[in-house]
Amino acid sequence: APNKKQLGGQRISVCLRKRPLTHKECRRGEADVVTTPSGECVIVHENKEAVDLSQYKLQHKFYFDQVFGAESSNEDVYRRTAYPLVLHMLKGGKATCFAYGQTGAGKTHTMLGSPVRPGLYALAARDIFAYLSTAHMHSPLLVYVSFFEIYCGQLYDLLDHRKRLFAREDGQKVVHIVGLRDIRVDSVSSLLEVISQGTEERTQGMSGVNPLSSRSHALLQIQLRDTNQQIAGRMWFVDLAGSERASDTKEPDRQSRMEGAEINQSLLALKECIRSLDQEQSHTPFRQSKLTQVLKDSFVGDSMTCMIANISPGHLATEHTLNTLRYADRVKEL
Ligand code: ADP
Ligand code: MG
Repeated sequence: APNKKQLGGQRISVCLRKRPLTHKECRRGEADVVTTPSGECVIVHENKEAVDLSQYKLQHKFYFDQVFGAESSNEDVYRRTAYPLVLHMLKGGKATCFAYGQTGAGKTHTMLGSPVRPGLYALAARDIFAYLSTAHMHSPLLVYVSFFEIYCGQLYDLLDHRKRLFAREDGQKVVHIVGLRDIRVDSVSSLLEVISQGTEERTQGMSGVNPLSSRSHALLQIQLRDTNQQIAGRMWFVDLAGSERASDTKEPDRQSRMEGAEINQSLLALKECIRSLDQEQSHTPFRQSKLTQVLKDSFVGDSMTCMIANISPGHLATEHTLNTLRYADRVKEL
C-alpha cells in the first residue's frame, strides 16, 4: 500500500554526503574505505581479520534518497537537499534541514561552508532574497533570522551573548522560545554577517578538550513575515552535535558522560520524531528532548524535512561511519 511518503512526494528525504580525505589524513596514510557507486548507493569496505588471521573486507551497502560523493560541491548538495525546502518555505510552508554525523565528518562545511565554498545557509539566503526581489507581491515580505544553541538540554542565544532561553508551550500547544532574539535582515550579506557573529559566539563558548561545537546543536531559523508580522514561511537549519558523542561510553569525566547521554537522548528522539512524520495517527515523542521540543512544529502538518548524514571516508572512522549510516537508514525506513 502506498504510504504518506510516496503520496506526498518528498516530505522526508534522507541523504548521505561523503567528504574527501583531508590533507592531514592523506599524510597519515589513511585509506579511503567508502565508495559511492551511484547517486543512491554507498558502500563501506570494512577491514576484517578472520580466525586464521587472514585479512578480508566486509562490504556494507546502504541506499538513500541521494548520495553525494567526495567530488560533490556544496552547490550540488544544496540543489538536491535544501533547495526544494526553500521553495516550500517561499510558498508559506515549514521546512527543516539537518546535518548529522561524527565530529569532523563535514556538517559545518555543509551548513556554513566558507567564503569560497558557501554552504547551505548562504545558498538558501541567496535564493530567498533573489525570490523576494523578483516576486510580485501585494505587500513585501520581511526576513528575520534567529540562531541559538542547545547544550546539555539548555538553550543559549547565539545572537545575544549566550543569553539563557526557555522553551514554553502555550495553551494551543505551540512551543515558544521565550526571549529569543530575532534580527531583521534585508540582504544576503547582512544575513551572512549575523550568521558569522553567531558562529563566532558558538566557537568561543567554553574551554575544554572537545570544542563546544561538537557538543551542542546549533539551530538557525530563517523566517518570512508579512508587514503585519504574520509568519509567511519558515525554515530551520540544524547543525547537530557530533553523533560520536552519543555512542562513546569511554568518556573520561562525569560532565562528558552527561553531555554524551544528553546528545544520545536527543538524537534518538529526533529519529523517532522524523519517523513519526510518515506515520498515520502516531504519537510524536517530541517531549523526549529539548531539541525535538523546540522543533515540534517541524514534526507536524505539512512540514518538509531533509537530513544530510555526513561521513568521513577514512578507515579509522569506520565504526562511527557505520553508526551514522545505520542511524540514517533507520530514519528513512518505515
Ligand atoms: P563537522 O562540523 O562535522 O565537525 P567540519 O565541517 O568542520 O566537520 O569538517 C571537518 C574538516 O573537513 C574541515 O577542515 C572541513 O573544511 C573539511 N571538509 C568537510 N567536508 C568537506 C568537503 N565536502 N570538501 C572538502 N573539505 C571538507
Ligand atoms: Mg562542526
